[in-house]
Amino acid sequence: MKRSGRCPKCDGSVIYVADVADHDDGHMKPMRIARHVDRQRMLGMNVDVTTSVGDLEAGVCRDCGYTEFYVKNPGDIPLDGKTAWLLERKGEPYR
Ligand SMILES: [Zn+2]
Repeated sequence: MKRSGRCPKCDGSVIYVADVADHDDGHMKPMRIARHVDRQRMLGMNVDVTTSVGDLEAGVCRDCGYTEFYVKNPGDIPLDGKTAWLLERKGEPYR
C-alpha cells in the first residue's frame, strides 16, 4: 500500500497520513507503537521512567477505508526483551 499507492483490498486511491493523532487528557500527541521503561537514578532513588517510541504514519484507502500503519523509525525501538523483541524467523538465525 505504502509503495504502490493502491489499496490491496479494492485497488482504491490511498491517502497518506503523516502523523497518526492520539490524545492524552485532551492534548493531542503523535501515536507511537511501543513503550520503553528506563530505570534512572533521581535524588538518590531508582525511578522507572516510561517513554514511548515509534511514531506512526498511515495509509488509508479513500474508497473502502482500509488502513495500514507504519512505524517511521523502527530501528529506534529498544529491544529490551520485556516490551519489545525480535521474533524468530523460521529457518533463519536472529539478525
Ligand atoms: Zn480500499
